[in-house]
Amino acid sequence: TPGALLGPAEIRALAGRLGLRPTKTLGQNFVIDGGTVRKIVRSARITPGERVVEVGPGLGSLTLGLLEAGASVVAIEIDPSLARLLPETVATHLPAAVADDGAPSRLDVILADALDVTELPGPAPTALVANLPYNVSVPVLLTFLERFPSLERVVVMVQAEVADRLAAPPGSRTYGIPSAKVAWYASARRTSTVSRSVFWPVPNVDSALVALERREPPAGSASRREVFAVVDAAFAQRRKMLRSALAPLAGSPAESARALAAAGVDPSSRGERLTIADFARVAAALAQP
Ligand code: SAM
Repeated sequence: TPGALLGPAEIRALAGRLGLRPTKTLGQNFVIDGGTVRKIVRSARITPGERVVEVGPGLGSLTLGLLEAGASVVAIEIDPSLARLLPETVATHLPAAVADDGAPSRLDVILADALDVTELPGPAPTALVANLPYNVSVPVLLTFLERFPSLERVVVMVQAEVADRLAAPPGSRTYGIPSAKVAWYASARRTSTVSRSVFWPVPNVDSALVALERREPPAGSASRREVFAVVDAAFAQRRKMLRSALAPLAGSPAESARALAAAGVDPSSRGERLTIADFARVAAALAQP
């Protein structure tokens, strides 16, 4: 049913009903283009009945697309007026998703800051699909991958520049903390660029889709925390050789050089060259003097 998705007129009408003034701090840019929603849903390869978590459903553009594809959705929204309106929007635009009691049967709405959510109602979600609020996109990704191991796939729209960083391979200019940390959980691919014109209000930057596939973390004895501490230290002083950059964490330059050599990493190289598996070996070597 092509009529189910929200276009510019519907978005304007819904925003008008709420007296909504979209705020930049909450990254409130709403998708007004059904084609974009379908593109996101298609990349997510939803199977009917699959449980999907959406962060920031807003006026419901993507939520409707996910429900239309047969997903069961748990949507987490920080803005009370948006969270309250969502079930009604779904009932109006996708009557097929509504149960006898008048409420959408495949939708749970949680009013909360996504970063504070530690438990989700219903079956464990296998996919995170969202048009993420810009200012918290990386923390939301890392937090959800860590907290909800049932998530196998992620398809998110983020700022184009953030998408580049998430998908950057070691050695590239944009490789940094987000690239290395996300790689602990998943492989990342930047799939397509999305023009700023598909949003209302129009943001200052273009967006891009990123697809993540969960995989096993690198083998080794170091914990996720220990490995992330090494990643943080390595990039805190990006221009320095690892021997110096990791000295504060290791206790001394000599100890840092020893651990790097034990891990098979050249102590004079820089963090931007290391894969997450390299970081894991360095962390393990630091923990075993
Ligand atoms: N999914 C909608 C769409 O595609 O049109 C809206 C996306 S908009 C970029 C981001 C949404 O996230 C907004 O509705 C905003 O209120 C919400 N939001 C912002 N920060 C949040 C947070 N920390 N937790 C949950 N939702 C948040």
